[in-house]
Amino acid sequence: MAIAEVPARPRASSRQGPFVNEPFYDFRHEENARKMRAAIERVRGQLGREYDLIIGGKHVKTTDKIKSLNPSRPSQIVGIHQKAGKDQVEPAMQAALKTFESWRNTSVEERASLLFRVGDLLRQRKMDLMAWLVFEVSKNWGEADADISETIDFCEFYAREALRLAKTEAPVQLPGERDSLMYIPLGVGAVIPPWNFPCAIMAGMTLASIVSGNTVILKPSSDSPTIAAKFVELLEEAGMPEGVVNFCPGSGAAFGDAIVSHPKTRYIAFTGSREVGLHINRSAATQAPGQIWIKRTILEMGGKDAIIVDADADIDSAVEGVAQSAFGFQGQKCSACSRAIVDERVYDKFLEQLKARVEKITVGDPAENSNMGAVINEGSMKTVLGYIEQGKKDGRLITGGERATEAGEGYYIKPTVIADIAPKSKLEQEEIFGPVLAVIKSRGFDHALEIANDTEFGLTGAVYTKSRDKIDRAIRDFHVGNLYFNRKCTGAMVGAHPFGGFNMSGTDSKSGGPDYLYLFTQAKSVGEKIG
Ligand code: NAD
Repeated sequence: MAIAEVPARPRASSRQGPFVNEPFYDFRHEENARKMRAAIERVRGQLGREYDLIIGGKHVKTTDKIKSLNPSRPSQIVGIHQKAGKDQVEPAMQAALKTFESWRNTSVEERASLLFRVGDLLRQRKMDLMAWLVFEVSKNWGEADADISETIDFCEFYAREALRLAKTEAPVQLPGERDSLMYIPLGVGAVIPPWNFPCAIMAGMTLASIVSGNTVILKPSSDSPTIAAKFVELLEEAGMPEGVVNFCPGSGAAFGDAIVSHPKTRYIAFTGSREVGLHINRSAATQAPGQIWIKRTILEMGGKDAIIVDADADIDSAVEGVAQSAFGFQGQKCSACSRAIVDERVYDKFLEQLKARVEKITVGDPAENSNMGAVINEGSMKTVLGYIEQGKKDGRLITGGERATEAGEGYYIKPTVIADIAPKSKLEQEEIFGPVLAVIKSRGFDHALEIANDTEFGLTGAVYTKSRDKIDRAIRDFHVGNLYFNRKCTGAMVGAHPFGGFNMSGTDSKSGGPDYLYLFTQAKSVGEKIG
């Protein structure tokens, strides 16, 4: 599971030529594995350092601190961070507002070249940054590689997109007029990412903001502030002017809430849970005294993603795709498969093969590149174990079903498969965000689609089938933002699979796609009489 398919090859910034995804390392090559072990040791020697808030380029300390812990070894401190609170809201906003006046007038070429330079630095430091993810969120090497590679992709992709947007085709020209349409920045954005793609999503929303000419207050998740601090260091090293990104780890409920409701916040770019996303939506809709605009919200939220296994599917590849989608990064992806909906004609065979496949998954310290590491924190572990207990009552435990205590002191949970789960039950409807797969029996393809669509969410989905008719039917009727056939439902690639969900999964922003930067800009139409 941890093996990336593409061999690593060195690549300089490709600012010339079309966009190409950053290649992954192949850790079956001993040289790559040796370099990764060395990076892990280098980073191990830097654990426990203290990081500052950065507001208007100035380093700021606070009395309260956030301790970022290694989920695989909770006694190990990864980084100590300042904790922004009410006192930092106004300084951060004033710094971002002041810098906006110059940054919005910086040429798009200059802003794009900042992103290209950041991409180059990320490439140079790639394995060290991957190692930080191993320690801070318990990603194995392949998952960490995917996260940093996606970050590099965002640098390359959004830089090109900003240059493209600046050269938008002229609108219809009225006789005697010069008519134009330009995409100008919005203002100060609150960027609020989750911990599960702690580099790629945090950086992606930040990079899209700043390349479009906005300035940002960045509040990373309290579970993953260290990788965000490393990213902000890279932005500074690449020459980002002071105040363009103001780095403010802090609690969601206190600092996050305050920046969302601030009258000068122009937009909120959020990725996280449905509950917090809806709360932000409500807060942003309320006009604060002194607020003169409707705040824009870009909200990407949870999922309850399904893979449909049809009676005529290639069962070997369906088992592999389901196992990878359900248990990659411990099931903690918004795109993770948490429901396998399997035709009754192949149900028993599928379950038998899936059990054998899942029992091969190794659980342990990702520093040793186990298939699965720990879940993010103690609260999450308790929630996931609660769902497992519920599942044991509602269905038939196939494998797993408990903590993996033999793996160590970390928050390890065995990959868990529970069969015979009924549609509409708790395990079938609610996002669990852990290594738990519910298997549901369907009476055929129509029934499978009905079950798949019958949740509040609509993020990713996949179908395993050999039937062209069923593929066409699913393209029409499987209502998700990202749909795949005969492959896993995780692993969206920048450029190829613009990402964003339907229904309660979010505002369908399609990050990594050609529409994304429009969300961070506003279009100004200009008509000038000539002659
Ligand atoms: P979360 O909602 O708990 O937190 C996300 C961010 O919101 C964090 O930075 C948090 O501090 C902040 N926050 C919390 N309360 C806030 C408030 N009142 N005001 C402002 N900010 C607040 O989510 P999480 O546990 O970090 O991430 C997991 C969730 O993210 C899952 O539901 C997952 O599906 C979702 N997710 C979605 C996508 C997607 O693209 N749709 C991608 C990754 C993760």
